[in-house]
Formats: sequence, C-alpha cells, structure tokens
Amino acid sequence: LPRLPVFEAISRHDPDSTVVIHSSSGRRFKYGELLGDVRKTRNRLYEAAGRDDIDGERIAFLVENSYDYVVTFLAILAAKSIAVPLSPAFPAPELQYILNHSEALMLLSSAKFAPKAHEVLKTELDVKPTYLQLSKFQGGAPHERVTLEKTGPGSAGLMLYTSGTTNRPKGVLLSQSVITAQARSLLHAWEYSPSDHLLHVLPLHHIHGTINALFTPLFSGSTIEFLFPFNADAVWKRLAAPFLTPDQTPDRDPDSSPSSFPPREKITFFTVVPTVYSRLLTTHKALPLDMQSATRTAISPANLRLAISGSAALPTPIKRAWSDLSGGNVLLERFGMTEVGMALSCGLDVADRVDGSVGWPLPGVEARLVDVDTHTVIEKGHERDADGRERVGEIQLRGPSIFAEYWRNPEATAKEFVESKDSDTRGLWFKTGDVAVRRPVENGAGRSSANSQKDWARGDMYFILGRRSADIIKSGGEKVSALEVEREMLALPQVAEVAVLAVPSGKWGQKVGAVVILDGEAVPEGRWTPLDMRRALKGRLAGYKIPQVLKVVKHIPRNAMGKINKKMLVKDVFA
Ligand code: ATP
Ligand code: MG
Repeated sequence: LPRLPVFEAISRHDPDSTVVIHSSSGRRFKYGELLGDVRKTRNRLYEAAGRDDIDGERIAFLVENSYDYVVTFLAILAAKSIAVPLSPAFPAPELQYILNHSEALMLLSSAKFAPKAHEVLKTELDVKPTYLQLSKFQGGAPHERVTLEKTGPGSAGLMLYTSGTTNRPKGVLLSQSVITAQARSLLHAWEYSPSDHLLHVLPLHHIHGTINALFTPLFSGSTIEFLFPFNADAVWKRLAAPFLTPDQTPDRDPDSSPSSFPPREKITFFTVVPTVYSRLLTTHKALPLDMQSATRTAISPANLRLAISGSAALPTPIKRAWSDLSGGNVLLERFGMTEVGMALSCGLDVADRVDGSVGWPLPGVEARLVDVDTHTVIEKGHERDADGRERVGEIQLRGPSIFAEYWRNPEATAKEFVESKDSDTRGLWFKTGDVAVRRPVENGAGRSSANSQKDWARGDMYFILGRRSADIIKSGGEKVSALEVEREMLALPQVAEVAVLAVPSGKWGQKVGAVVILDGEAVPEGRWTPLDMRRALKGRLAGYKIPQVLKVVKHIPRNAMGKINKKMLVKDVFA
C-alpha cells in the first residue's frame, strides 16, 4: 500500500538522527523511534473509540510542546482522523467552544493537562467526547519499519482555528494533501535540511508553529528543539550555549534535571513573530558581556542559517537592529495565513529580502491582485493608474496548498472564494482580505532576483498594506495604510510600540488614530503631545496620513501570535 508522504519521508531519515529535543531537560528522541510510537498511539485511539474506522472524525488534544505532541499529532493523521490541537492557555469556555464547534469525537490530554481537560469536560458540551489520557513516551523503542496506509488525497488532516484577530476564530479544515503541498513548497523555498536544528518557541495551535516549524522539518529530517513558552533569557542562553565552552559537550543522562539546560548543538533555523525579535533585542542589552558576544556569534549568518519573521508585519527598525546585532543576518519576511499556509516569501539570497516586502508567491502558489476600487485584476505592468498612482489590490490565491472549506460554515466558505473569469479549470481564487501593492524590484535592492537561480523569487515584489477590514483607513476620500503609518512611526525614537487604526469620524468618515507606547529613554518625562507627533512625522508622511488623534498608553493587548485586535482596541481606547 502507498504511504502518506510525511510517513514516507520519516521512514527514510537516518533512524539514529534526532527528531525532537526537550530544551529544558535535554531529553532527546530519534527519528527511528517515531513511527513505532505513532502506530502504538493510533491503536490506542482505535481502542478508545471502540472501532478502527474513525476516518474524518475530529480528535482534539491538549499536549505540551514535546515529543508526545508530535506523536499524538501524527497518530491522528495515521488514523485518518482530523487533528484539532488545543491551546492549554485557552480558558475553559474557549476550549468548550472549539469542542462544540468541531464536534470532537475524542479529547486527548497529557498527564500535565488532565486537570484542564477535566475542567472542560465539566462544561456543557453538545456531545461529550471520549476522553483519553495519554501516557508519556519513554523513547528508546526499537527501530521499526512501520507501514501506515494512505487514504485519498482529500482525506482528513488538520483543523486549525484562525488567530481570532478580527472575529471569533474560524475552523479551517486542511486536508493531508493541503498540508503536504504547504510543506513541499517551503522545503523548496527555504531548503530545510537534515542538518537544520530548529529552536521552536511558538504555540502549536497555529499554522506558523505547526506547519513551518514542525510538519515541514519532519519532511526534511531536521531536528526540532522545543523551548516553550517563549522566554527571552532562556532563548539567549540556549543560542549562546555552543559558543561559551566548546570543549564541554556533556552527554546528558536522558532524565537529567533542568539544570542540564541547555543542549549544545548550534541553532541554524529560527522562525518567530516580530514581537519575539523585539523582546530579544530589548533583553540583549542586559545580558552579561560574555553572553552578549556569544549570542552575537550564535545569530551571525554563518551560524544561524535562517531567521524568519511572519504572522504580522515586521517593523523595519526591528529588522535593522537584528541585522546590526548579528553582523548582517537579515531577517527573511514572509506572509501566510491559517487558510493557505505560507503564500508569499522573500528569498534565501540576502539581496532578496527587501525592507517592507513579503517577496514573491511561493512555489506552487498562484497569486493575483484585484483592484479594491474597480474589482479588476491588476495585470503585470499595470501597477499604476493613468495618473501614476499605485494601484492597491486584494491578494487572491489559488493552488494545491489552499484550504477547501471553513468547518461547517458553507456561507463563509462561499463568501471567500471567487471564480476566475479566465475560464480555466485551476479552481477558485481565495480572497485573503489582505491588500498589497506590487512594485518592481529596484536597482540594487533585490539585485540577485533578476538572475536568480530560483524559479519563484522573480519579478515584482509584494508589499502588504494591511487587512482590508482593519488596516485600510478611508479618511476624506483618501486611503491610508495603517501598516505604512506604523512603519514610519516606529522609526521615530520616541515610539516603542504603536497601533494605527481607524477612528470613526462624522466629518471624515474615518480618522487616522494612533495608540502609542513611548520609549522611556527618548521621552523620560512620558509626555508626547499630538503636536509633537505631527512635527516628528512631518516630511516622513503625506499630511493626510499623519494621525489626527493620539493616545499614549502603557500596554497594547496582543493575542498569542503577537497580533492586535484593532476593532477591540479602538473601542477600548477611543470610547
Ligand atoms: P482571524 O482570521 O481570526 O481574524 P488572523 O487573520 O490573525 O485571525 P491568522 O490566520 O493566524 O489569523 O493570520 C493571518 C493574517 O496575519 C493575515 O491575513 C495577515 O493579515 C497577517 N499576516 C501574516 N503575515 C504577515 C506579514 N508578513 N505582514 C503583515 N501581515 C501578516
Ligand atoms: Mg484571518
């Protein structure tokens, strides 16, 4: 029988190479152990369900970022069911919502999260799922050649909930063929390899942590080291470890105490959200001097092969500061969403990482821009209108890596897909709701892309302006990109953090508003007036783009992926 591509790949990797490391204990697990544990767990699922046909059933699970998580996730795929990862950080009502919404057949938990699971099971549930507490894997199982059969290409897979930045999280159904296509695209673009060692500090119930930092590395035979929850000091210590005392690389006892942190392999691959880079940059200054120099070596381009940013716009000052600190390691920015995985990305060539750009459509992804005013497709070479103004378009996508449906929500699904007028058969276009402009690669910047070896990192680059619903502010007939204003404001020394948003206005329809956290060093007395702001932004932004209202705050709430719910923020701050 043919096997699922992910299992096929795993069974081909060197069985003695490391698949997972638990950073804090130093425990490690081998590729050769993985499929045996997956099969055992799949059989436990069959037993708990009382049948071995659980195709397409939703199986929710609460497991810490660990080897057990990887086994559980793959076991659900192997059972041809749908994996619904839950965040242990969610309060019980949020988990209750997901269990009800996904109509989960089973709820699995690790011992650690058993109390949490019981708390949710006590809430009112439409259908009570069968509960199963998983035992810890001890590793060390003999290498086994395991056959795990494959179902049709559209078969079950993964259900992830969107980040809930603009609304209640939506359940996005990603079939095995979709997540496989997403992984293949990234393997090609970012060239994951068995010698890559990823430091994984993200939650696993979102696309970024699951596909980019777990599922794809499993295809390439890379090592995934979990250090979660993110903690800037622990990350710096871990990065520095191989460069502090290179002569001491202890072979750790598998059950060693947390004092054995950290392992000593060099970290080569790091993919996180902009707020993580920002935390790392601020905390770096406070490190002891020997740590400062070891960490700079650790993140230099020669050691950290690839440092990626995504899930939210990367502020240029963060990108520059990271490059300065690391001796030229330029962050690679990419754009993705739960519904599509990764869609656009800058290139591996440093020259292909242009500030403010998210690059080109990834391999296998087709992208187009649809003019937000005229609703016509912006053809190549027509990025400016007759008056020379840039045309702004919604990004629409199609290809094998795009999801097929929101779970049990045909209305939402129908609304977000459009048929193409070019009457071809490659399927519907997905409307991302994000708007962008496309600009030719200028001389100097992105130079290599003109004669790039890559088949995909070519042509005009995409620049995200923001979400259609929350970041495109319509003020007195003009359109203002919140992201563009945020970028300029972050370049001011006075501004530590900012959210630019639409404030309802009788006169203008919407006004440009800014919610700002001040930089304590640049503004020690903590006073910054709207006039100060306007003066600082004059010459940087056209007059109509300069915020008309300003609120200075101490804290801007963000969700687990570092994103801001602007609808909520505007209500809270400008009510
Ligand atoms: P919800 O759909 O529930 O409101 P969400 O859209 O934040 O939440 P995700 O699917 O996790 O949920 O995030 C996708 C969104 O993240 C994109 O639509 C886009 O707005 C934003 N995004 C991702 N990468 C980037 C980037 N590099 N620059 C700007 N925005 C980005
Ligand atoms: Mg969304």
